[in-house]
Amino acid sequence: MVGVPIDALLLDMDGVLYHGVTPLPGARALLERIAPMPHLFVTNNPIRTPEQVAERLARMGLPRPAPETILTSAEATAAWLAREKPGFSYFAVGAEGLHIALRAVGREDMERADFVVVGEGPGLDFESLTTGINLIVKRGARLVVTNPDTSVDDSVGGEHRILPGGGALVAPFSAASGVGPVVIGKPRPALFEMALKRLGCRAERCLMIGDRPDTDIAGAVTYGLRAALVRSGRFAPGEPWPGELPRPDWDVDDLTALTDLLDDVLPARR
Ligand SMILES: [Mg+2]
Repeated sequence: MVGVPIDALLLDMDGVLYHGVTPLPGARALLERIAPMPHLFVTNNPIRTPEQVAERLARMGLPRPAPETILTSAEATAAWLAREKPGFSYFAVGAEGLHIALRAVGREDMERADFVVVGEGPGLDFESLTTGINLIVKRGARLVVTNPDTSVDDSVGGEHRILPGGGALVAPFSAASGVGPVVIGKPRPALFEMALKRLGCRAERCLMIGDRPDTDIAGAVTYGLRAALVRSGRFAPGEPWPGELPRPDWDVDDLTALTDLLDDVLPARR
């Protein structure tokens, strides 16, 4: 690993830079260190727009990223759909971030949608499920989901709770229609592919920093990127590696340890 230069970085956010609304140790130092380099914040969470994500980081006291450095699974989904079928029509179930991303490149049509798009977050109810499955079964619409996570962690007023993820919310559409979804977020290739394209970087010269072995690390390694696991989120220090998953290039307990290691492969500090 030492001696392989890194030209660009992809950073997961939740569990890497912060927990809930609290920045994690070393987050500010890492962001300052990589500020002059090409980098993107990549998240499976499609709920917020890039502007809202930037605002949220700033409110935590972290440097405010430019919105164009934030790639959400909602934006990756919209870009994937536009590539599959330019001028596509859709019926979407999900939060504001998804609706805004889709509206920018497609046309909403509850009667003749080309795609039924399911996003993590609020929006699913009996009516929308019924509309979606009828579009799939009777009109041949394709089912697409922003991200495969079955559950996600959330905290309200410091209290931890588990929310259904995109993978759980798309399940009733699949069950009722008998059709499996196209999945966009990590560990699938679409979001990584779009991130590399936006950065103009070759996979092997790009480093993904994430906290989840099954999405951040598995996806990055499978897609040919370098990968660093930070054990500050879903995966705890000392926890044994899940045997079936590919290992990252680096495996560290926190961002401070990672920032020290990165000095060997990042362009020199100015
Ligand atoms: Mg994470």
